[in-house]
Amino acid sequence: MTVEKRMPDRNPIQTDLLPPPAGSARVRVMLTLPFAGPLDYMLPPRLAGAMPGDIVTVPLGRRTETGVIWDATSRLPPEFTPPPQKDVPTSRLKPVAARLDLPPLPAQLRQFVDWVAAYTLSPPGMVLAMALRANALAPLPRPATGWIAAPTVPSGLRLTPARQKVLELATTALPTAELARRAGVGAAVIRGLAQAGALTAVEILPPPPFALPDPAHCPPQLEGEQAEVAAQLRARVDENGFSITLLEGVTGSGKTEIYMEAIAACVAAGRQALVLLPEIALSAQWTGRFARRFGAEPALWHSDLGARLRRVTWRAVADGTARVVVGARSALFLPFDQLGLIIVDEEHETAFKQEDGVTYHARDMAVVRARMSQAPIVLVSATPSLESLANVGAGRYRHLKLNARHGNASMPDVETLDMRADPPERGLFLSPMLTGAINDAIGRGEQAMLFLNRRGYAPLTLCRTCGHRMQCPNCTAWLVEHRARHILTCHHCGYDEPIPQTCPKCADADSLTPIGPGVERITEEARATFPDARILVMASDTLNGPAATAAAVERIARREIDLVIGTQIVAKGWHFPHLTLVGIVDADLGLGGGDLRASERTVQLLHQVAGRAGRAEAPGRVLLQSYVPDHPVMQALVSGDFASFMQQEAEQRRPGFWPPYGRLAAVIVSAEAPDAADLTARALGQNAPRLDGVQVLGPAPAPLAILRGRHRFRLLLRARRNIAVQPIMREWLSRVKPERGARIDVDIDPVSFL
Ligand code: ADP
Ligand code: ZN
Repeated sequence: MTVEKRMPDRNPIQTDLLPPPAGSARVRVMLTLPFAGPLDYMLPPRLAGAMPGDIVTVPLGRRTETGVIWDATSRLPPEFTPPPQKDVPTSRLKPVAARLDLPPLPAQLRQFVDWVAAYTLSPPGMVLAMALRANALAPLPRPATGWIAAPTVPSGLRLTPARQKVLELATTALPTAELARRAGVGAAVIRGLAQAGALTAVEILPPPPFALPDPAHCPPQLEGEQAEVAAQLRARVDENGFSITLLEGVTGSGKTEIYMEAIAACVAAGRQALVLLPEIALSAQWTGRFARRFGAEPALWHSDLGARLRRVTWRAVADGTARVVVGARSALFLPFDQLGLIIVDEEHETAFKQEDGVTYHARDMAVVRARMSQAPIVLVSATPSLESLANVGAGRYRHLKLNARHGNASMPDVETLDMRADPPERGLFLSPMLTGAINDAIGRGEQAMLFLNRRGYAPLTLCRTCGHRMQCPNCTAWLVEHRARHILTCHHCGYDEPIPQTCPKCADADSLTPIGPGVERITEEARATFPDARILVMASDTLNGPAATAAAVERIARREIDLVIGTQIVAKGWHFPHLTLVGIVDADLGLGGGDLRASERTVQLLHQVAGRAGRAEAPGRVLLQSYVPDHPVMQALVSGDFASFMQQEAEQRRPGFWPPYGRLAAVIVSAEAPDAADLTARALGQNAPRLDGVQVLGPAPAPLAILRGRHRFRLLLRARRNIAVQPIMREWLSRVKPERGARIDVDIDPVSFL
């Protein structure tokens, strides 16, 4: 988020001094713009009934903007209270132009917008923008008109056989063309009957877009621990109050199956359920599973939704006809009418943190939303975040556990392959042990998977003659070769250029060499090593959207594929029953970089990938290629003892008050001019708060020292857990004026430190 507080270029004050019409009132309207708070407008008498939450249009300068009538007493922090117009008499305010024909934004959602703005230090209008996606508000097409026969035929009407036929058919409302077609008459016959009063016009309402899910449609057979956990979750829903539960269970233990029982209870109670998934690519498989369980599709919400569906869904959530919504982070800002349950699946996923615009953590904000709605929330994971485990430890969250995989499936057997002892051949990346195991699995008619969390062909291109490294002109980052597209590209800013024939520095020909592997390169190696295998690549840049991903998953399930090669997209909750072998090409990849959560994340990610193996009867095997097989991360993956691993993590973070034992807020200063960034960062450093239990680290050049042509510096504020960082941050930032062209972004609870 950006701290810079922009005021409208023109104050919405009317210049004419006409007295206000009688009965007009003053309202505060929150616009979806980065202003400091809501603006004051006059409510003309024709809109006298307008209430907080109503969606309106107002004049702003020469434009018309959409906004929401805000509450007179919102709990916004001081800098978000109405700016100067406070002293402007109502008579001089511009009038609200119109009220839109839309359901009002519920009070709970308005309160949530205020809360998120205050917590993330974002302009509330930018948070509101997430709740009011412009294309969700566009009017729906008017309902069609249909004709229905009047109860009695008007006297004096001559009943020809054609007319007779029309009246017989018009027992349910049909539009003109349809009625004419069915009766085999011209439209003139219908018009004649309508004029004579024998047909009455009615609006044909479209059927509700989302059928009601049936909790009893196809419930699973639950026994043992599954039945106990499901009963607990149902009890939370039936309580109809706020509670937080962490549902922890190994991959394949039936977590999804079981939280669907909580959804069933919620639907049966007449309330709405929201399910957040970290990645929208997962939604296709999820909706299919939901439909089999409930006999109806859930409503889907994500950024790629078509305009019409977005409008229909927004309204259906507001009027309560959409009972179950599954979506990405942004679904948190939908206008739920009766929210009765929130599920956050794969709660440990960092994808829940939104990094641009308003930076917020959807998992944490979901907890806030649940509290405001007095609804239970369930956080679900096979490898819960240390944050959630610490909350369990502190007694804030309940903890439910599933210890065994469902049915006859056992946990896969995980082994490390010591790359020092069993290295691949020169120029290759798969060790002989791994290729042997893949050959065996494919030979048995089973499926194998290779995982490497890196897109493209090679992460670095180097000149063998002069050592020059191909770098992005806009960022402090190497260019990644994408051989299939014949380009070098920057994964940070999207810059690309054709792969050069000669080194741009020393002009030597054919001296540029790819260093290290990406999935493309592993695919090339696999094609050479397993010439007869049917190979499928799954990477976010090769699969175009949820439908393509679903099609790929479908092909794997139908056993049209022997070997799947993929990036993190394959790690997600997929169920591949015939997959028995998983090879992790570079298990050490996530450990570098000095990120405080590097180890935790590597364990979570690799365990999730490993969990794709052996989900049915045939046992699964996971091989980790590593140069540090004794590292605690590898040991945890091999032993499967995550509780001990997380205990060690906790012990490392506790003494220094690192999260979750302390709080962090990052400040990122950026400017095109290096001096402007540097001076602003230094001013922040000099003005850093000096308080007990608070420490400011930096300023230091960011690891991504230049991004999209902007020079970047970072500061990090660390505070004890019992200290609220927002007031400290507000006070600090208010004392520093950014240099010309410099921007200060704040990231509360940062997840990325680049
Ligand atoms: P998780 O979410 O923990 O990875 P899932 O809910 O996806 O586990 O369950 C794994 C597989 O086992 C799925 O195919 C699921 O349908 C099946 N399964 C789990 N529990 C049951 C059950 N009680 N009855 C039938 N199938 C089940
Ligand atoms: Zn770049």
